[in-house]
Parts: sequence; C-alpha cells; structure tokens
Amino acid sequence: EALYHMPAWGEGFFGVNDDGNVCARPDAARDGHIDLAAVVDEVVAGGLPLPAVIRFQDILAARVQALNAAFRQAAEDAEYGGGYTSVYPVKVNQLREVVDEIVEAGRPFGSGIECGSKAELVATLPRLESDDMLCLVNGYKDAAMLRLILTFQRLGRKVLPIVEKASEFEQILKLSDDAGQAPAFGVRVKLAAVAPGPWTKSGGSLSKFGVSLPELVALADRLIEEGRPEALRLLHFHLGSQIGDVAALKHAVREIARVYAGLVRRGLTPEYLDVGGGLGVNYDALPLGAGAGGVDYSVQEYANAVVYAAKEVCDAEGVPEPRLVTENGRAVTAHHSVLVVDVLGATRKPDVADDFELPKGAHPVAGELDALRETAASARGLGELLEVLHDANESREKAHALFQYGYLDLDAAALAERLYWAVCRLIHERVEAAGPEWAPPELDALGDALADQLLCDFSVFQSLMDHWALGQRFPIMPIAGLDQEPTRRARLVDITCDSDGEIAKFVAPEGARRALEVHDLPTGPPDEPYRLGVFLVGAYQDILGDAHNLFGGVSEAHVYLDEDEPSGYYVEETIRGTTVEEMLARVQYFPSDLQARVQTLLREKARAGVVRPKEAQAILADYRAFFPQTTYLDPT
Ligand code: PLP
Repeated sequence: EALYHMPAWGEGFFGVNDDGNVCARPDAARDGHIDLAAVVDEVVAGGLPLPAVIRFQDILAARVQALNAAFRQAAEDAEYGGGYTSVYPVKVNQLREVVDEIVEAGRPFGSGIECGSKAELVATLPRLESDDMLCLVNGYKDAAMLRLILTFQRLGRKVLPIVEKASEFEQILKLSDDAGQAPAFGVRVKLAAVAPGPWTKSGGSLSKFGVSLPELVALADRLIEEGRPEALRLLHFHLGSQIGDVAALKHAVREIARVYAGLVRRGLTPEYLDVGGGLGVNYDALPLGAGAGGVDYSVQEYANAVVYAAKEVCDAEGVPEPRLVTENGRAVTAHHSVLVVDVLGATRKPDVADDFELPKGAHPVAGELDALRETAASARGLGELLEVLHDANESREKAHALFQYGYLDLDAAALAERLYWAVCRLIHERVEAAGPEWAPPELDALGDALADQLLCDFSVFQSLMDHWALGQRFPIMPIAGLDQEPTRRARLVDITCDSDGEIAKFVAPEGARRALEVHDLPTGPPDEPYRLGVFLVGAYQDILGDAHNLFGGVSEAHVYLDEDEPSGYYVEETIRGTTVEEMLARVQYFPSDLQARVQTLLREKARAGVVRPKEAQAILADYRAFFPQTTYLDPT
C-alpha cells in the first residue's frame, strides 16, 4: 500500500489484502472487502474481454452520503438555517447506471441533477423523480431546448434554466410569455474570484460563461420594473474543476453572497445560492495538508468553507439565508471506477552480463565503454560516478557518429549500445546502494532512463484522455502479486500507433515520477496474466474518450458489496467493449461490403491456384470472425 501511496489517494476505499491483491472497501460502515483481482478473474472467465472498467457502485453512494453529511455537519456547526442541496452534474459521467446510483443515494437528502447540453437534457428530464427534485440546465440552450424546459416547468417539475449569457434572459422571458407562464430561471454570475488549478479559466471576468455584474443589475431592474421579482430563483458560479485552494472558494462564496444580498435588497427573492462544482480529488501521493500539487483540503473543510462564508455575509447583510447548492461531480464519481489492463510484455534496455568479455578485435569505442564498466565498479563517490556517466555519454555519441559515417558496422554499433546501457546500470546500482539523500539530477534520472517499457492493452486516448491532454497523473499499480516485492521499474505504452500513447508520469510524494515499480516480467506475453489497475478514473475519463486508431469503448463490470456472499460481492452486470463492427460503422465501413471484397479476392486467387477453395473458405471465416470482437488485443 505504501509503495503505491494508496493511503494518500485511496480515501480509505482501497487497500491490499492478505493474498497480495488490491481490494476495494466501498463502504467504511460495512465490513466487506472486494478482491479486485478475483472480480477481474471472474468476469474474464465469464468471457468479458479486457481492458475493462470495474465499477464499485457502492462507492458512488458512499461519496454522495459523505458530501451530504459534511454539509449537514457544517450547517449544524455554523447554525446555518438555509439548507443544502447536492446536485449531480451528469457531464462528469453520464452512464445511466452511474446516474441511477447517484440519484438513488441522493434521494434521502433531496438531491438534484444538472445537465448542460441538448442530449443531456433529453436524457435527464425523464429522470426526475418528483416535482421537488431540482434540475438545473447549464450551458448554451437554443429556443427548442428552452421550450422543452418550460414545458416541464408547466408539468410541475422544478427545472431551472441557468442563464449563461444576457441574451438568454430575453429569450426566456419571451418564451415564458408566449407560453403564458411565469418565468423561473437561475443566472450564472461572472465573479472576480478565480481559483488556482488546471481549470482556473472557468472563473474570473474572462470566463466563457456567465453574466457580468452590470448585466445582472440591468436584468434585476427589468424584473422589478415588470413586477416579477420572483422569476430569478438561483444565483450560480463555478470556479472550475479541482479547486486547488480552498481560500479561493471562500472568496467566491463571499462575493456571490454579496451579490445575493444586493439583489434581495433590490426586492428580488432568489431561493438558491449555487456554488458550482470544483471539490477536488487527491490524485496524487501528497497526503492531506502537504501543500502544492495535491488537494490539501477534506470534504468537511470544503463544506465548512461554503457554509461559513455564506453565513458570514448573510449575517452581516441581514438577509435571509438561501438554500446552498453544490454541483460536485468529480468528487462523487472519481473513486468508483478502476481501469484494468493486461500487460502484453516488457521491453528492457539492452545490456551485457556482468561477466561479459569483449571479443578480440572489437572496435576501440567498444573498448572505451567496456573499460568504463570497471571504472564504474571502482568509482569512489557520486562525483566519480557522474564523471563515468559523462565519459559514457561521450563514447556513445562517438559510436553514433562513427556508425553514421560508415566507420562502425551494425554489429559493433549494437555492441556499443549494449555496453553503454550496462555502464548506466552499474552506475545506477552504485547510486542506489549508496542511497544518498541527494544525488546530482543526471544520476537521479538514470533510474527512469533505465526503466523497462511495458506494453499494455489499452488506448490512452480512449481511457485516460486527461493524462494525454493535461498531463494529469492517475494512481496506477499491479492489482495482484503485491505480497512479492516489485523489483523493476517501468513506463507504460499503449497499443495505439502514436508515440503520445504512453504513461510516463506516476504519482509520488515528491511530485511526478517517470517510472512505476513493477514485477519482473518476460519480454513476451507473461505466463500468468499481469494486470495493472488505473485508479480514480470515474470522473470525465469515460466520456472524454477518443476513437484514435479506432480503439473503442472498453468493457465494464458493475460490482456490489454482498456480505452474505462468501466472496463478499456480486457482479450485477457486465458490458462488452465496442466491437470492431461498431467502430467501423462510425467511419462508414460495413461488414457486407468489406466481406464481399475479401470474397472476390479469394475467388480470384482460388481460380489462379494461389489458394485451394477450401482454404479460401477458411480465410473468409477467419476474416469475418473479427467483426464481433472488441477492438483490443487478445493477450492469450
Ligand atoms: N458545474 C459546472 C457548471 C461545471 O462546468 C462543472 C465542471 O467543470 C461542474 C459543475 C463539475 O465540477 P466538478 O466535477 O469539479 O465537481
């Protein structure tokens, strides 16, 4: 657990059991531990191809409960009487089962839901469970969407369009008047406050969304003039996901609370103060409170920040306390799913055995590198080891130049490369054995440079988009065999034909590391499956996925705790990944046409005697068999 920093990022949901397997503890209030490796073995034996996302559905419920409990506690401590509603923004993970689970867990707390696009709206409106369930519609909306929202309002549902730009306000008034119903909406306000973090642009006066204070004042005056002050129901801001500093959130809540108080004094009656999403998830190995890089506040501190800041302003301004709303998505969904991928084999740096003897007549440059092996072995101190590394770098460059100009043949160039890496390995072993607190960066970097490369059966672009796009680190570790110490370090590469399809940033207390501790693996397919889990992928990753190289959606398994089961869990549902046929249809290739073309080719070749007709039939059958397969490789 410590090696992979689980206590820092796992929020208590993950650990390692006595068998050396990763296990999930979805519910701290219950005993159950679910063995992740056993789940994967079971679903694979049942025919589910990897890669797969394993969803621990109970974690979703646990997160919804934790969030609501934190706000309840904060309200009690602060004596805040306005109430609180958690709203789930479906864009973070729209999968129906995920939304169902969150809605169900939120039912006792009166939680709501948020959507932000046409398709999300169409999926969400029928999902409302009662007239009391709050539904917020963010994002840009066309007239048809606004009309549908108004229709659901007329049916009695509590659906509020959130005005993102001033012109939408006019449209809502007009469409409501046309429909003969009283307008009801919220407004997203552009605040001055910004929060540091990767999504800082979502806040501040330059943000893409929201109305400015002058626009808001004009809008408020208009509502007062027209005698419909109750139309403005909600004030909203969103500072951006993964807020890095809780102080920024307090500033923003104070600012919106002042706006609220100003509007109340003008005669408006907003019911809700919606502080958006942004509750951060600690993807890093930095423990709580460690400062920059990780998220250094707890859910409780987040809730306290919102509640106390709102309370402070309402007290000072003498206005009624509004119902507080948050739209937390990442913090609710991130922990519940783990991506499990098969390792297909390892590539190692070339090397020579320690007892290697240089062949007679070897090129002098190989002799230089060979001699450096001995120098490395006898070097005294880090300074001398650094000097050996510099000499080896120089000899390697010389070998490259000699090869380019034809003075070194292919075998000699290959030998020079092996000797170079052997020198590096020896230096690294000496540095590791000395275990200094500080080593020159060039020596420090050797561990990463010497790392193996593990070929993993997945696509970074499909499954870990934020790693590629934003350099976001995700916790990664083997899901089994953790009773044996991992002895090697590796970078991970995916199976796309794109050199960006790699993972070379891993969580570490000192920030990113460029290699991961793994077990010793053969260069070909491992005898036993070797599987890595990528954790905290439940937020955004599923839906951001991109079909680069036509790698499609991965398989899924939905797992629940069951204390009455000997295994402690049951798999409610499995979903196979996207098939080759489905991916091809997205780019307008269809099986009938493709198979007819192969058939024509085979007929021609059979006629020409290149293949026998029976063989041609078998080839066609082989080709056809690809269409229902998933798009990833078969590690067996
Ligand atoms: N609300 C709005 C308006 C958003 O744009 C977002 C996403 O950035 C969220 C809520 C969800 O934020 P998070 O996933 O950080 O909780």
